[in-house]
Amino acid sequence: MTKKIAFIGLGNMGSGMAKNLVKNGFSVLAFDLSSDAMAMAKENGCELAESAKQAVERCDAVVTMLPAGKHVKGIYEETVLPNAKSGTLLLDCSTIDVATAKEVGGMAKAQGLLMVDAPVSGGTKAAGDGTLTFMVGGENTAFEQAEKVLSAMGKKIIHAGECGAGQSAKICNNMLLGASMIATCEAFQLAEKLDLDPQVFFDIASNASGQTWSMTSYCPVKGVGPASPADNDFAGGFAAALMVKDLTLAMQGAESVGAKVPMGERAAELYRAYCEQAQENGGLDFSSIIKTL
Ligand code: NAD
Repeated sequence: MTKKIAFIGLGNMGSGMAKNLVKNGFSVLAFDLSSDAMAMAKENGCELAESAKQAVERCDAVVTMLPAGKHVKGIYEETVLPNAKSGTLLLDCSTIDVATAKEVGGMAKAQGLLMVDAPVSGGTKAAGDGTLTFMVGGENTAFEQAEKVLSAMGKKIIHAGECGAGQSAKICNNMLLGASMIATCEAFQLAEKLDLDPQVFFDIASNASGQTWSMTSYCPVKGVGPASPADNDFAGGFAAALMVKDLTLAMQGAESVGAKVPMGERAAELYRAYCEQAQENGGLDFSSIIKTL
């Protein structure tokens, strides 16, 4: 049973996730390149490692929560794989491209180590509250062991398939989310121009065939539906820049297998243009794209 966990990458998401591991009885040895992230990890009850190497050597599981594929591949090649003891369980929770997830998983397997790719759905609030959804790729034995660790950080842990399947699920989900958010924004704009009250349109569409999560749970219109970033001038939530990242990964995934994704492509173009339009846009919640319509 995993007891001591090396946690590498304690930024906006990793910080809350590590805190929940500690809260649920795991001992966490933390490492991040940022001194602010390290200070926060200490406040959250983690022990601090002097280096990623030291964290990996001393633990029986390693969780990484890093920005992109190049960071994950780099740290796996240079530090995690050369220093992991036999029997160490490896969990990468970052959102990265499917090809890199498969490559890193393959390297771990070649070394006889169990690994899962386990990207998350849910933002910083869910990370802090321990209510993330994990989509997990890896062999059955790896999933069974990983589930015990992931349950301390999330409310839903779903086995998506073999190595890389977690990342495939994540990019397909977020491509759907990006496209459906834009469609929801368009519908509200059109409704308003046709003199329909936004609240009335919400009451109808959320009970009719047009309902989507982007409308019923995350409405982009201020004062309509349950509380959402739109009520707070689009502060917090899921940054538009991260939506661009995920849509770019989805487009790479689609290209690699020759899938046709015209709506996803258009969503990627619109979100890219939105983030390029003004520097501040990338930091706003992704539903703020309604401002451009
Ligand atoms: P972040 O930039 O806040 O945190 C990443 C951390 O990794 C930083 O603290 C950075 O210093 C650290 N880091 C980078 N390279 C390192 C290295 N070699 N060694 C040690 N530490 C290193 O990013 P985030 O918002 O926490 O996102 C992390 C991952 O989660 C990303 O892949 C992102 O796409 C995904 N994600 C984010 C959200 C969100 O709402 N923020 C939601 C779902 C998924």
